[in-house]
Amino acid sequence: MDSGEELGGAGRAERYGVAASSGIGIGIAYVVDRRRVQVPRTLIDKESTETEKGRFLEAMRDTRQQIEVIKKRLPHGEHRAILKAQQMMLRDPDLIGRVEVLIGDELRCAEWAVATATDEIHEMLDQADDEYFRERRSDIVFLAERVILALLGDNPLEIKPPPGAVVIAHDLSPADTAHLHRCEVAGIVTAAGGKTSHSAIMARSLQIPAVVGVEGILGAVFSGELVIVDGVRGEVILRPEVEEIGGHEIERERYNAFEQRVQREHAFPAITLDGRRVMTRANLSLSEDIELGMSYGADGIGLYRSEYMYMNRDTLPSEEEHYRTAKKVLRHYAPHPVVFRTFDLGSDKPSKLLGISKHEANPAMGLRSLRLALRKRDIFLAQLRGLLRAALHGPLRIMLPLVGSLEELEDGIAAVEEARDQLEAAGMAYASDCPLGVMIETPSAALIADLLAARVDFMSIGTNDLIQYTMAVDRDNDDVDYLYQPLHPAMLRLIKRVAEAGAVADVPVSLCGEMAADPRYTWILVGLGIYELSMSPSAVPVIKHIIRGSSSTEMAELTARVLCTKTASEASELVLEVMRERFPEHLKHGGGRSSVVEEDA
Ligand code: PEP
Ligand code: MG
Repeated sequence: MDSGEELGGAGRAERYGVAASSGIGIGIAYVVDRRRVQVPRTLIDKESTETEKGRFLEAMRDTRQQIEVIKKRLPHGEHRAILKAQQMMLRDPDLIGRVEVLIGDELRCAEWAVATATDEIHEMLDQADDEYFRERRSDIVFLAERVILALLGDNPLEIKPPPGAVVIAHDLSPADTAHLHRCEVAGIVTAAGGKTSHSAIMARSLQIPAVVGVEGILGAVFSGELVIVDGVRGEVILRPEVEEIGGHEIERERYNAFEQRVQREHAFPAITLDGRRVMTRANLSLSEDIELGMSYGADGIGLYRSEYMYMNRDTLPSEEEHYRTAKKVLRHYAPHPVVFRTFDLGSDKPSKLLGISKHEANPAMGLRSLRLALRKRDIFLAQLRGLLRAALHGPLRIMLPLVGSLEELEDGIAAVEEARDQLEAAGMAYASDCPLGVMIETPSAALIADLLAARVDFMSIGTNDLIQYTMAVDRDNDDVDYLYQPLHPAMLRLIKRVAEAGAVADVPVSLCGEMAADPRYTWILVGLGIYELSMSPSAVPVIKHIIRGSSSTEMAELTARVLCTKTASEASELVLEVMRERFPEHLKHGGGRSSVVEEDA
């Protein structure tokens, strides 16, 4: 942990990091000076091991309860899910078992055993290739600190910045950020963290301007000095000149006015100036986040990623749990539709519950999604039965992920029919007319969209995977990120083809990949004939705003020009030129929290 040793002082300085949460914050620095927890390293007697284990388990329980209290004080959202994941880590049998071994066999005191076991996990995560896992190291550090403090009988360090302060820290835990939420801070700057770090996620969901991953920030500023946090550009100005404070104040006013304008209109429907209605729905992953879509004005849920119900737990979700969860989401969104995607596990979303441990050299093309569900038929049927029963309570739609051929789709349809037969035989009530849809995530599915359309009630294009498979570019690999091109002519042609196949068959086509959340692509997607977009909830207001300020004629005209380009860069340039002129604020601010990053602006 950073000692928070401050040098600071001197004159004006600027530092750069990752623009984690949009907005401009101007305030007095509040440097979080965390002392390192002093871990006693004492050997215990053999007779005391059971007492020591008891002390350890009690500290784990106390820490879980502390987190529960913090969780209850927070609104629903991603931050709650993070705290829940931390509570689960505190129940992790491997961690508990390892600490008990260190106490029982090596006779270490509980504090020392916790520090050793968590250091081992930290080291393991350090070596992970995946950025997401590396970011999870901070969870372990925070949890270890809390458990050790609980063992020592100390209260965890609370951060209490004055209102309007800019918090400068090495890193922030979700519990820290919970305090910040109530302190109304002007901004956050952390030395650690990247785009998916908790500080970044939480700052975005709490709408606090933030820059993370700013090297050396703790040594560069004193508490009490003035700081400007530019969460749009990823810039931090320390001890700014008077004139630059004025400039940033004006920019902050503009930004806030834009945010308020967009947010004020979030409940209005997305209808173009010439009367074309576009549905803007939300993507949801956890039923804890249920409030989010509604609060941002979404027209229902276009993608419920049900696979998260199979993660971070020790038992499979039962038919009853699927039924209750789906019913709860439907009630919340009534009368809007909710699209439940059947579990899309495997590859980047593993679950130990399905009992697949075989190493796959190429997991993105391996046993995943519908292929896996068909292989684990009983687990799949339990989910389908739960969903078919819940469909009695509202407009539920079932969607099958990663289909590559008509046979695969037919197998999926047969499973739905089997689930219906089982319910019928058991005398259970279910919806016989629940619409069934298919995701278009592979080039093969896009190319046979006309054949698939003849067998389903709706289609939804998953561009996150469709781009990956079309371009042969791993969606999670930074090294080939530059080749991940949503406006590549191949992508435009595939999306157009699916939209046309849907129109001919009179089957609605939506798009639920990250492209839908990006203001740069709204005109092109609508121009290609996609009238249902599903996205991260926080992106809904800005996308609606763009649609409400545009005519379908101008969208169609730009799309026609883009379809004539030969490369993704040519297409990008054209789109940016027009969108920058028509919606300068939207592109600059990206609606505050949408996925847009205007690299070349
Ligand atoms: C997609 O692939 O575009 C999609 C929406 O599914 P996921 O991101 O969950 O793979
Ligand atoms: Mg996908």
